[in-house]
Amino acid sequence: MDYQKAFADIVSQQLVRLEKLKQDNVAIDYKKLDKIIIGIIGGDGIGPAITAQAHRVLEELLSDEVAEGKVEFRTITGLTIENRAKAQKAIPDSVLEEIKMCHVLLKGPTTTPRKGDIWGNIDSANVEMRKQLDLFANVRPVKVPDEGIDWTFFRENTECLYAMGGQGVDINDDLAIDFRVITTPGTRRIAKQAFEYAKNNDKTKVSIVTKANIVKKTDGKFLEVCKEVAKDYPGIEVDDWYIDIMTAKLIDPNRRTQFQVLVLPNLYGDILTDEAAEFQGGVGTAGSANIGNKYAMFEAIHGSAPRMVEEGREIYADPCSVMRAGVMLLSHIGYQTQADKLAKALDICTITERKIVLTGKPDGATNSEFSDYILATTKNM
Ligand code: NAD
Repeated sequence: MDYQKAFADIVSQQLVRLEKLKQDNVAIDYKKLDKIIIGIIGGDGIGPAITAQAHRVLEELLSDEVAEGKVEFRTITGLTIENRAKAQKAIPDSVLEEIKMCHVLLKGPTTTPRKGDIWGNIDSANVEMRKQLDLFANVRPVKVPDEGIDWTFFRENTECLYAMGGQGVDINDDLAIDFRVITTPGTRRIAKQAFEYAKNNDKTKVSIVTKANIVKKTDGKFLEVCKEVAKDYPGIEVDDWYIDIMTAKLIDPNRRTQFQVLVLPNLYGDILTDEAAEFQGGVGTAGSANIGNKYAMFEAIHGSAPRMVEEGREIYADPCSVMRAGVMLLSHIGYQTQADKLAKALDICTITERKIVLTGKPDGATNSEFSDYILATTKNM
């Protein structure tokens, strides 16, 4: 293979991307829109069942706004593994068009085929959506009040090893090279999101996580740009950590309560946020936000659980994670009262009261019974 040409092509593509990044720096203002369009994407496996329940709850909480024409819900059914396999595309064109007509999206999990699966080699719909909609900030809150844990992670979502994940080069049978990219504007915008969030939510500290002592160019740039952005936020304390020791310190009960907002490149963020979610009861309990300047997508952080569907158990799948994503969506588009209501109802129904319990099996409630419980709880507030 002509690897020198492959390298040159990659550099050219990234230079074009860099120029676009420099120009795209104005975020959408939802207050200025006549109507906010919320797309509901069921996805695969247990996705349609749990997302339908979250949709029901959001429609109810925003019923006045829907009646007044300020909010519209649109259900997008085409992002299934069957349709994606048929089109041999991570997101079929017509579905992408529908998605781009919405302002924000609530998304169920989507299956990503593995090598040898019947679906062929289709890329992840999530990775494609992040690229297509330029969803550069992956925001994941993790809270365990009893243990003093209240963390918000800002994982950069478009760069690092993921920017060119499929473009690695086999130089020969024994030598493989992948590429990692970090840019100044790409880092600046995620750092700004993290510091703005800290400022607006009474947080006093932002921790930057890299491995800049070893990965000197890319992580070095990430750390340097974050520190530069920090200068605009004099009231916020900044510290920096290496990813290895940060992974250890999340387990240290004395140290971990000191972390508040964390900002980190894509791969470290991917790994650290799964570790963090485990403190809260596992990946099924957390929601996640993918935010860009023009679009935002909110989703459960677990997958499509195909085995539950094969065993006919999708009606028992837990909708809490996608509902927690719904809380973030409401807050993001400016409906904080409704977001607080839903968050409180989820805490009551899953922690303090637990009148109806989901087990994932027929000995527990169905997700529709659980949603009735959530709705009844919000009405009593
Ligand atoms: P998974 O999260 O789908 O399932 C692991 C196990 O967790 C399941 O067998 C089930 O027992 C349990 N579980 C998950 N969600 C649950 C829920 N809401 N209620 C009750 N139990 C639940 O992980 P996996 O098996 O590794 O992945 C399956 C597919 O999902 C893969 O194709 C993967 O690529 C995809 N995936 C998608 C996303 C996404 O769209 N954001 C994220 C992760 C995985």
